[in-house]
Amino acid sequence: MRHVVVISTGGTIASRWQGDGYAAEAAGQEVLAAGAVPEGVDVRVVDLFTVNSSRLTTDHQLRLLHTVHDVLADPAVDGIVVTHGTDTLEESAFFLDLFHADRRPVVFTGAQKPLDAPDGDAAGNLYDALLTAATGRDIGAVIVFAGQVYAARGTVKQHTVDAHAFGAPDGLPLGRVEFGRVTWGRRRPRPAPLPMPEPGAVPPRVDILTHHSDGDTVLFEASLAAGARGVVVVGTGAGNANPQVAEAVRKATANGVLVAVSTRVAAGAVAPLYTGGGAVDLVAAGGLLAGTLRPGQARIAVLAALLARPVTASGIDGTEGADGTDAADAAATLRDILEAAPQALPASELYLVDGVGK
Ligand code: ASP
Repeated sequence: MRHVVVISTGGTIASRWQGDGYAAEAAGQEVLAAGAVPEGVDVRVVDLFTVNSSRLTTDHQLRLLHTVHDVLADPAVDGIVVTHGTDTLEESAFFLDLFHADRRPVVFTGAQKPLDAPDGDAAGNLYDALLTAATGRDIGAVIVFAGQVYAARGTVKQHTVDAHAFGAPDGLPLGRVEFGRVTWGRRRPRPAPLPMPEPGAVPPRVDILTHHSDGDTVLFEASLAAGARGVVVVGTGAGNANPQVAEAVRKATANGVLVAVSTRVAAGAVAPLYTGGGAVDLVAAGGLLAGTLRPGQARIAVLAALLARPVTASGIDGTEGADGTDAADAAATLRDILEAAPQALPASELYLVDGVGK
């Protein structure tokens, strides 16, 4: 018998009609009852919280991270399934993946249709997630949805309502689930896990600022005034903005604020191609290019770096902080996260090897 723990957090998979719209309300046991449990798998449910995922906070994500850590302290557990709203699922999954230091997987799933829908997708997704959690090894945190297994890193919600909600814009899934078994592609290297954040750590503010034609730095300045320790500049094209934004990035990084540069384009990596406020200048100003990470996951990278290497108020100017860390340590950690190899499979590597990962 394989033992899987299901951690229930809400989302559409736990939502029912409220008279004027849907909202998460069902407990984990009710969600589980929507479908069948694979043969040979035994399930225990942990009800962590019941929210739709656009309402999630870093506190929720830290609670989830610590709960997963506690559950995996039991050697009898073979894997974990997290039921989660799809809106910010890619953020929580990547957050957990960055700290994950265990061979056993954390499998995120959810649904696009609510729990009480007669043609819902909850049952199938849950079944596939349980199967993946029971049998997968060395895959970190993954997203199982619509018959596909995606590495958390690089995966995004790509459709608002379609059952095929997730995709990897710069690669392919790690595997797929069909006819009651998981078929894996070639194993991908996983980067070293970050040190766990201290319990009770105060989450730093990290904002996302999207550039556009006629863009200025009003929101950038407001973000810094609100105490942001990290900022993601979502550039146009391959990560471009304008000279005012480049100057704001220079001032922010000089004050120990981490700046990552992503793009509002749906696929492809950011690259230092253009000056005149482009990525060339954002990098010269201290911004770090986020590779193929889309904005939500670039923000999680900044957040995780700050939690793994806390920057104290005295360390914000780049000097040594009271706890022995400083902004340069956090920036080096962020660089490592951003430069880690993408985990999505290139097309040529999918489904070559059956059974790897078990
Ligand atoms: N709004 C929902 C949520 O993220 C969407 C879903 O779960 O599919 O909680």
